[in-house]
Amino acid sequence: MLIIGPPGSGKGTQAERISERLGVVAISTGDIFRANVKGGTPLGVEARKYMDNGDFVPDSVTNEMVRNRLSQDDARNGFLLDGYPRTIAQVDYLDGILAAADQELGVVLQLTADDEELVSRLLGRARETGRSDDNESVIRHRLDLYHQQTEAVVARYARRGILAQVDGLGGIDEVTDRVLGSISEQAGVYRPPAGL
Ligand code: AMP
Repeated sequence: MLIIGPPGSGKGTQAERISERLGVVAISTGDIFRANVKGGTPLGVEARKYMDNGDFVPDSVTNEMVRNRLSQDDARNGFLLDGYPRTIAQVDYLDGILAAADQELGVVLQLTADDEELVSRLLGRARETGRSDDNESVIRHRLDLYHQQTEAVVARYARRGILAQVDGLGGIDEVTDRVLGSISEQAGVYRPPAGL
């Protein structure tokens, strides 16, 4: 599965919840980059140059990192990718990884939200966490990149008939309920425990 959404749509939070409920590992490229930045690794030093400005880390760096991560044992029986692919070139690369592993995408979930709502959420988060890519001009740049590049990714998966769109506005639990319901409709992956 993939989860795609604009910055501030809550995709990281929802990814963790889906991962718990469905028992699949959640892999967030943003989290991997942030961990590398924090640890001062060569990958982190490289990624930071782009992240602080709200730019995409180049495909050459990101694709390789994803390929390595997906080759680990915990991803063998399925995974939920959060934040990848964000460009059409990344879609093509992921197609190649999956074909080589004889795997197929089941559901691509898109969380939707209004831009102005996202900007105000992210400014709130910046005050709380001090994330360096959460100031207003960087936030607007990240949103622009989402519209310019990642919406084409979403359209590609829509044409393949595996897209599920979910309104990301509302309380966290409410959105999780919508997400799980939508996954269930799209792929029959999620079944509520007996008695519910
Ligand atoms: P996120 O936490 O998903 O918003 O990602 C934070 C930042 O990490 C992004 O603004 C990019 O700089 C970088 N990043 C994460 N995923 C990707 C990706 N698939 N391609 C390029 N850059 C990425």
